[in-house]
Amino acid sequence: MQSLDVFAGEKLAALDAKSLRRRLKPTRRHDGAVVERDGKRLISFSCNDYLGLSQHPAVRAAAAEAALNYGAGAAASRLVTGDHPLLSDLERRLARLKGTEAACVFGSGYLANTGVIPTLVGPGDAVFVDALAHACIWSGAQLSGAKIVKFAHNDIADLERLLRTERPQARRALVATDGVFSMDGDIAPLDQLSALCKVHDAWLLSDDAHGVGVLAQGRGSAALFPDADIPLQMGTLSKALGSYGGYLCGSQAVIDLLKTRARTLVYATGLPPASAAAALAALDVVEAEPALTEQPLAKARLFTQRLGLPDARSPIVPVIMGEADTALAASAALEAQGFLVVAIRPPTVPEGTARLRLAFSAEHADADVLRLADAVAALR
Ligand SMILES: *Cc1c(COP(=O)(O)O)cnc(C)c1O
Repeated sequence: MQSLDVFAGEKLAALDAKSLRRRLKPTRRHDGAVVERDGKRLISFSCNDYLGLSQHPAVRAAAAEAALNYGAGAAASRLVTGDHPLLSDLERRLARLKGTEAACVFGSGYLANTGVIPTLVGPGDAVFVDALAHACIWSGAQLSGAKIVKFAHNDIADLERLLRTERPQARRALVATDGVFSMDGDIAPLDQLSALCKVHDAWLLSDDAHGVGVLAQGRGSAALFPDADIPLQMGTLSKALGSYGGYLCGSQAVIDLLKTRARTLVYATGLPPASAAAALAALDVVEAEPALTEQPLAKARLFTQRLGLPDARSPIVPVIMGEADTALAASAALEAQGFLVVAIRPPTVPEGTARLRLAFSAEHADADVLRLADAVAALR
């Protein structure tokens, strides 16, 4: 055991020396994008609860009622006894929202990508991944055993060059990208990616974790590109929808295959009924209140305009600070002014691009957004 603790201790010391050690901080969340840490209340610009739905009375009530009626957990894999009828209701709703034939719900977004990718490609195949794609796309690609080909971020010419050289050697090919990039807030050119995929017979997977609920009246980033054909539309229930869980929307054949082969569905316990009920109630709110879904982007634009930055394309706005300790100091300075803005450091973002990552919510008051913008301006 001693060598194990020596290993862990040395690893931690090395991270500490580079300001890259991370620590959990117990946090309570309240209405109105307010969080409580160490007894102190802060306005959070670091939650992905873009519409405040995790705190919405109807969403909370739906979760509570489902837990009381059906129990706290699913008790088994969906393929055994864990497939509560609420899950198929939810899948029908998600497929309708995304305009696909069918959908499959997973235990989380991370489990969705790590289950979907290895089901569709394997050794002898190739996965082309955007350089800034989310960690769980990389994990899924690694688990698949397919050749991983990284293309430069949102660079269609680079992807085309790589498809030309690498695609002929591969039996099957998948192109995987975030729809909205989680740490940069920019949007993938899904129309051009879709056209390239058609030419090279590659399958396009777009991860819409940060698009659903907040872009195109809640339908997500794919709906910004009506001409794009995106056969694999992945997303999460855990951000704008305020619940927990993940999904893939696609054709009936793809969904049927996932439900019998995706290891993260077959060998993991089903989503708890309360999470499904909360997501269904959240989708009701999204569909009933299109004006609410436009708020997070409007708040982000208010911020970027005040700072003279390029217009925000999504509710996520990065303010690049450079080194990890600079970003940590900026975060601490904002916290002293009542704002929670967590510093994002490598390896979540590339070396030298440590940043404040701001996530705007419908719950933010315009006055607080402007006050934050002025506080950030003073730090740069
Ligand atoms: C958060 C996130 C995920 C993971 O979703 P969870 O439901 O939190 O597991 C996947 N992809 C992207 C782009 C994300 O930001």
